[in-house]
Amino acid sequence: MVFSTLFSELYHSIKKTPNSGEVAQYIPELALVDPNKFGVSLVKLNAENFHFGDAQEKFSIQSIAKVLSLTLAYKICGEKLWERVGVEPSGTAFNSLVQLEYEKGIPRNPFINAGALVVADVLVSELKNPNDDFLAFVNQLCHTQVSYSKQVAASEKSCAYVNTALINLMKSFGNIKNDIDQVMDLYFNLCSIEMTCQELSQTFLFLANDGVCPLSEQEIIDHSKSKRINSIMQLCGFYDEAGEFSFKVGLPGKSGVGGGIVVVRPHEFSMAVWSPKLNAKGNSFLGTKFLEKFTTKIDYSIF
Ligand code: GLN
Repeated sequence: MVFSTLFSELYHSIKKTPNSGEVAQYIPELALVDPNKFGVSLVKLNAENFHFGDAQEKFSIQSIAKVLSLTLAYKICGEKLWERVGVEPSGTAFNSLVQLEYEKGIPRNPFINAGALVVADVLVSELKNPNDDFLAFVNQLCHTQVSYSKQVAASEKSCAYVNTALINLMKSFGNIKNDIDQVMDLYFNLCSIEMTCQELSQTFLFLANDGVCPLSEQEIIDHSKSKRINSIMQLCGFYDEAGEFSFKVGLPGKSGVGGGIVVVRPHEFSMAVWSPKLNAKGNSFLGTKFLEKFTTKIDYSIF
């Protein structure tokens, strides 16, 4: 299958539907991104890769990085991690505060902001130099040098009112062990990582290969944990749109407010799409439409 031709066809067909999304505004630096960018990249386990559009341009991966921080924390802590964060869909927005009070500071899953803050707290406890060590882990997956964006991290920090509320509430319940500023700094940094679609699809390939990076043949995480991370992506990767994404696209994946979406087809490929305008649930508007058409056209969901 020559995916590049298909990508071009699908892109031109979705471009006809008006893009009613909005670029994320609440992080000032993200609002500056050109809303018309569109890129897609697919990498197969045998290293064959296909690209279309702005696939070589860096963008802010934002919450997509939560899968990578979860992978490292789960690798280090094993099943004990689930004493501090759940694996249930939240049915609420990515930055929602509402469930946290009822559920005594234990976030529903690691992909909502509260859950990712707990995971960042675990990494601060476990890593000697959390910011450097986490980046080294990501670089090992992506096989190039990626970095944090100082501007994006500072921009998010300058108006992190809701994340500050979330972490303080969890601290009051005893579910944040470290200094709040240190945990928030790691969280803003990991969200600020910039990658191209090509780097992102390469980075996630271990999750399509039972936890082993096919390029280096190195086990990143064991088989069972890799399956579990895929299942959390399937059920929780798109916040309160997780059901609809699964219904329409049918692949495990994760979105970010930078407009990126990464999906995995176990034992076949990983794929990243980037289009900055977001729908009302904070997921890329055209990215979601593109993936829906893609898996429908070639009958490529996991079901
Ligand atoms: N850094 C963003 C935040 O904490 C990530 C949100 C997202 O990508 N959904 O709000």
